[in-house]
Formats: sequence, structure tokens, C-alpha cells
Amino acid sequence: MAYLTLKNINKIYPNGFHAVHDFNLEIERGEFIVFVGPSGCGKSTTLRMIAGLENISKGDFLIDGVRANDKGPRERQIAMVFQSYALYPHMSVYDNLAFGLTLQGVDEDVIEERVLKTAKILGLTEYLDRKPRALSGGQRQRVAVGRAIIRKVGVFLMDEPLSNLDAKQRVTMRSEITQIHRETKATTIYVTHDQTEAMTMADRIVVMKDGYIQQVGTPYELYFNPVNLFVAGFIGEPPMNFITATVSEGKVSVGGNVLDLQHVLSKEKLDSYEGKEIVVGFRPEGIVLGEQSDAYGIDAFVELTELLGDNTNVYVNIGEDRAILKVDPHDTPKTDVNIRFSIPYDNVYLFDKDTEQVVTEPKRK
Ligand code: ATP
Repeated sequence: MAYLTLKNINKIYPNGFHAVHDFNLEIERGEFIVFVGPSGCGKSTTLRMIAGLENISKGDFLIDGVRANDKGPRERQIAMVFQSYALYPHMSVYDNLAFGLTLQGVDEDVIEERVLKTAKILGLTEYLDRKPRALSGGQRQRVAVGRAIIRKVGVFLMDEPLSNLDAKQRVTMRSEITQIHRETKATTIYVTHDQTEAMTMADRIVVMKDGYIQQVGTPYELYFNPVNLFVAGFIGEPPMNFITATVSEGKVSVGGNVLDLQHVLSKEKLDSYEGKEIVVGFRPEGIVLGEQSDAYGIDAFVELTELLGDNTNVYVNIGEDRAILKVDPHDTPKTDVNIRFSIPYDNVYLFDKDTEQVVTEPKRK
């Protein structure tokens, strides 16, 4: 049986706004789940319903198979780390960590042991006497995480816990949280709008948009087998390139380059798109410069190049359309020249223009 079960969960706010629609998910003990999606997609609302901070309008939330909709936050054995650290400013790091346990009436000796152990895991040992104002953003964030993990609850919920940190601190804290999860093996649900955080931290990612789950899967599955245009465009940086074209005799013309779609789609499916528009997708990193076998050759015009160090982003025009190509910095083309590149058939995705669902077969299992 799954540890946490969300069955057809809906949230309708008192003003009538339907923020979450039929959310279904089963979470196993020890999993690191990330809810990701653009602002307003319902991530925090769902997390708050799990925490018991927001009531569930419709649907069932089960913990170990037992309905928990009506249980209070404490009864649910859930700890939450918020975006704002919510530390007590007048208390030392030690007291901030100890506070929850003191309230529960835990023995002083046990508290000390747990505070010291938590501080060690989080690298806070030397800061235990300091007040929060004398800590960096990253250190404060660690205290906030520490306050949650010290409680030894079943589930940790984190709502954009890294958003107040600068880019460098975020990268460090990202791997620290992953490390803490590896050590504590605590079931964790983590909310972010940042697809890189989702990809690097999650066992499984839940992609949301407009209150609906778009896809649930491992980072690998979402990257290689996105089910629709939204997920394909949301996961991956820079995002997947999309070009809309009309199918004629099983082929499309992309900026004058004729692509025979039989190489990537069964004849049966292809026939159903005859005369219709279809969206051709390929990732910036899914191309090779020059010619290659088993690939579509494309002529393009280089508008701009951006050397990023480990790669170069090349902005090209393909006829009227634009695309970004990710190339080795040593192969950076000049600007204002024509180039030819190839998209291996394996790296081509086709999407239905109307339903926005992928129509090519999954790439990799
Ligand atoms: P963000 O990343 O911006 O926090 P989110 O995905 O976490 O976004 P939610 O905070 O869950 O989004 O909000 C989902 C939707 O519900 C938004 O459109 C928001 O405006 C709306 N909403 C949130 N709280 C309320 C409320 N109390 N009453 C009415 N609508 C609300």
C-alpha cells in the first residue's frame, strides 16, 4: 500500500476559484517528490492540503491507507519548511532547533542529543549559539530545514525553500537537501517553479499547469518522453524547439527543408494527419552540426551565438521560424551565415496541434 494517497483531490476556494482539479497521486515511503509548474498552477495549494493547512474541497487524502482529510496538521505527522524561514529571531540556533521538541515535553538529554546530531548533519555545529540575524541566508535555510527534520515526522513538505537564496547558494543547498534526504530517507514533497531543481532533486516529478497534473514521472521519463507540448517545453533548458507545419503526402516543409515523417511516425498515424497541421519538436541539444545519416538535414541562418562555457547557444532562423541549437563551444558557427545541421530521427517529437499531445512513440523506456 502506498504511504500517501491523493485520490481525486480538488480545491475550490471560498470565492469559487477552482485551484486544483482531480489530483491523483500515490507516494511511497522514502520518495522525494517534486511538484513543479508555473506560478499559480496549484502547487502550494496541493501542498497545503497535504499539510492540513487548507481543507480539501473534494476527494480523499490517505496516510497508510487511513483517511486523513479531517486530521489536524499535528496528527498527520508532517513537518513543513516554508519559503520564509520563520525562525525565532530572539532565539539561538540551538533553541530554534530545540523549540518544537521542548513544546512536546521531550527530555532535555534527548533534545540535546537530537539538536547536536541535526546540527552535525546540516553543518551548523559551530553556529549553535548564534541568533538568526548573524547567519547567512543559506545557514538560516539550513536551520529551517533542521527544525523540520529534528521532529522525526513521517513527511517533510517544502514550499520553494530555496527561493530567498542567491543562485550559488541555491545550487549548494540543492545538493545538501538531496544529501539530507539520502541520510534521513524521509518522505519529502518539494514545491518549486524551477525545472532544474525538479530535475536534479526528484525521484519523481509532478508537472502541473492551471490546477491539472500534466504528467508524473522520473526526471528521465519527463525529459525523454514528455506526454504533451507543455511538459516538453517546460522540462529542459533552453526549452525544446517547436515548429508548426502542414502535412502533405506524409511530409512537412520546415523553412524549405522537406522532412519525410515516415521516418518518425507509423503510416497509419501519419495518414490521419494528412492535410493537417502538426508540431515538430526537437531539443537544442538533440542536434548535430553538419550531415548525418538517419537524420533530417536542416538549413538555417545564424542570428546570434551565446558562449556559455561548456556549450554555445546558437539562435537560428529556419525560414520564418526560430530555434535554439546547443553546440560544442569549439564548433560555434559565425553569425550571419547559413549553416546545415541534422536532427537524428530518434530526437524528433511530433505533437498534435489541437490536443497538444505527443503522437510519436516514447523514445526510451
Ligand atoms: P506560486 O508558485 O506563485 O506560489 P502555486 O502554483 O503555488 O503558485 P497556488 O498558490 O497553489 O499556486 O495558487 C493556485 C491558484 O489559486 C492561483 O491562481 C491563486 O491565485 C489561487 N488562490 C490561492 N489562494 C487563494 C485563496 N485563498 N482564494 C482564492 N484563490 C486563491
